[in-house]
Parts: sequence; C-alpha cells; structure tokens
Amino acid sequence: TKKLVASALPIQSAFASPYRWRVLGLAVLAQTSASIVSQGVYTLVPFLQSAFQLSQAKAALSVTAVNAGQVMSMMLMGWLIDKYGERGVVVVAPDEQLLAEYRKLQTQVLKEARKLQQLKHAKTETADRVEIELFANIELPEDAIQAVKLGAVGVGLFRSEFLFMDRKQALPDEEQQYQEYRRVVDLMHGLPVNIRTIDVGADKALGGGGDVSQTGTSPLGLRAIRWSLTEPEIFLTQLRAILRASAHGQARIMIPMLAHAKEIDETFRLIEKAKQQLHQRGKAFNPNIQVGAMIEIPAAALVLPLFINRFDFLSIGTNDLIQYTLAIDRADHAVAHLYDPLHPAILNLLANIIEQAKRANVPVAVCGEMAGDPALTRLLLALGLTDFSMHFSQLLLVKREILQANVGLLKARVARVLRAYE
Ligand code: PEP
Ligand code: MG
Repeated sequence: TKKLVASALPIQSAFASPYRWRVLGLAVLAQTSASIVSQGVYTLVPFLQSAFQLSQAKAALSVTAVNAGQVMSMMLMGWLIDKYGERGVVVVAPDEQLLAEYRKLQTQVLKEARKLQQLKHAKTETADRVEIELFANIELPEDAIQAVKLGAVGVGLFRSEFLFMDRKQALPDEEQQYQEYRRVVDLMHGLPVNIRTIDVGADKALGGGGDVSQTGTSPLGLRAIRWSLTEPEIFLTQLRAILRASAHGQARIMIPMLAHAKEIDETFRLIEKAKQQLHQRGKAFNPNIQVGAMIEIPAAALVLPLFINRFDFLSIGTNDLIQYTLAIDRADHAVAHLYDPLHPAILNLLANIIEQAKRANVPVAVCGEMAGDPALTRLLLALGLTDFSMHFSQLLLVKREILQANVGLLKARVARVLRAYE
C-alpha cells in the first residue's frame, strides 16, 4: 500500500550548509519510479544541477532523521518541488490524490516559468531606472551556456572545486585546468568570468591526489586561500591556468577567505611569479588581469580599506560571512536554525562593505546565496547593492523583483532597519 513515509522533514535545516541550496521543499519520487515517471510528475523543477551539488546534498542529508540511503536513491532522480516549501514533505510512493495535487502544482510552476522566460531580454533596471548587473554563479563549465541564455552579464563566481573534489586520480595539471577555464571564457563571449581559486577544506574535501588529511573539517581550519598558500605549487599551477585563459577573454582571479595583509602580499607575490613563469615559457596571458577578493570573513569586512586599496573588485561571500559572524558552522545541523541572513549584525556589515566600496569606486557584488533569494532582493537594493551574482536558476526570479522595485523608496526606509537590534 502506498503511504507517506516521511512528512514534515525539516528540509531547510537538513540542508545545513544550506542556505546554499535553499531547498524550500523536496518531492522525492521513488520506489514506484517507473509509474511515477509515466505520470509526469518528474517534469517538475530540476534540482540537482551538478555532481558537486550532489555531494553537498549527500553530506547534508546524512544528518536527517530519514534513512539517508533511501532518500538518496530518490534524490538521484533529482527533482525538487519548489513552492511546496511550506510543507517540506518527502513523499515516498504518493497516492492518487497527492499525485493530482502535484500535477496541479506542476501546471502552475510551468505557467510561471513560461512567464518568467519573457523577462530574459528585458533591461535589468529598477522601476526608478537604477541599472543593476546580474552575474551567474557556476560550478561546471557547461553551466555557462545557461548563464548566457538567461542574460547574465558575466560569471560572478566560478567555483573551481569541481576540478579538484571527488577525484580518484591525481589533481588536474595546468593544461587540463586551462582547457576548462578557457571553455567558460569562450562560452561567455568576452564577458567577465571570476574564477575563484580553489576553496577546499571544511565541508569541501579534496579528492584523490591531494593530501586530504591537510584539509581538516573545521570551518576555522586550513581552507581556501590558507590552504593554497601552504601548497604553492598547486596554487601556482592554478594561477598559470587562469592566466592562460585570460588570453582568450575576461578571465579574472578571485581569492576566497582572505583576512590578513600578509596573505594578500603572498597571494600577489605568487600571481607575479606565475606571470613570470608563463612569460619565460612564452605563453600568452593578460598581464593586467583583474584580481578580486572575496569578503567573507568579518575581519576582512572590518578592515575593508586594505582590500579596496589592493584589489580590482570585491565579492561578498555571504554564506561564509554569516557563518563566521554568527559563529554558526554552516554544516552543523544542530545550529542551522541560528543561520540568519537578516541578523542586524549581518545587515550592518553588508551596508558598510557596500557603502565603502561604492565610495571608493571599487565594484562590489554579493555572490552568496542571499543574492539569489528573491525575498531578499529589495533589501539588498536598499543597502545599495547593484551587482548580484547567483545560481543561474535564480536569475529571472531576482530580475522580476528588481524590475518592480523602487530603490529611492527602499533606501529611504533602510536606515530604520539598520538601526534595529532585533
Ligand atoms: C560564500 O561563502 O558566500 C560563497 C559564495 O562561497 P562558498 O559558498 O563556495 O563558500
Ligand atoms: Mg565562501
């Protein structure tokens, strides 16, 4: 007999590293997969976009009360029912009535999706004519195809980890990396592509050839640029690959997790060294390649002039900025309910970063999940943000909010929000 095996699964907290996946609700269709597929429920919103997300989802699900193996096999079918979020139900072998409900929902979702598609070519500006730039976050080179189709004006965050994680073989060499980066640059036809240097450690484990023991599990440990600076040969290899891609378009280097002046010095020293090495080998690259910093550690936000003076652009990684400001391990299910992008401390930090960068004329974007959440679009506009970078699936939803927003009115109200303590 068909029955609801698990309902009211706290999906949102299940995806503890999560705000990232912003899972509102998940319809899990399994067991009788063939019959369900034939009933067309599977044509709902695709959920798992890449192997990287899959590995993240696996990690998150292992902490839920539901038998993880069971849920995983269902998730492999990869379909998310958005809009079903409030219910947050995982349904195994749904009955006829439920399927009928889902079909109705499916019709609504598809209708809305068609309406959204019409926004693709609209100019991205607010109702009071403030121009906004929408960039895409991508995890695989081919994601760039969707980014362009949906009207992104560049790739604001290319997470390069896919090249390094879950690998059985050795780490990719310069040539392999160069080919992948170049592919994105080519697909973006001259638009900027921020290639974030490797961000392993904490919840992102290195595969195969790398020394996994060195990338601990603590989010306060040796991750991102900290790790790269302890592995200069691996870092130099990546920098050379990015530099070579810059000969074909606007590849830019973006550095995660910086906090210290001496990390910045060391990073630039290695970038110069990578340039010299390529020069000696007669390889083409853009000597004026732009270098950006992710602002995702509160300490960096509090000494922003250091970053403004030395980088061509800034990108705020709110996922980590929230984690470190609120002392919430983003992979720890037990504290997921405290992960709050609307905490006044976060809003004030964001307002300050954006204001200082704008005043100094240094481009600043938000590339954490906040930027892709349409419920937060107007708030970010009110804080003065004009560059948003998000998973490409969110682009049109956020654009719809932007087209309807009046920044002048929003800004007039934001001071009161920033003064609030709760
Ligand atoms: C962030 O921290 O907000 C971010 C964009 O990077 P990641 O989620 O990959 O750490
Ligand atoms: Mg981050």
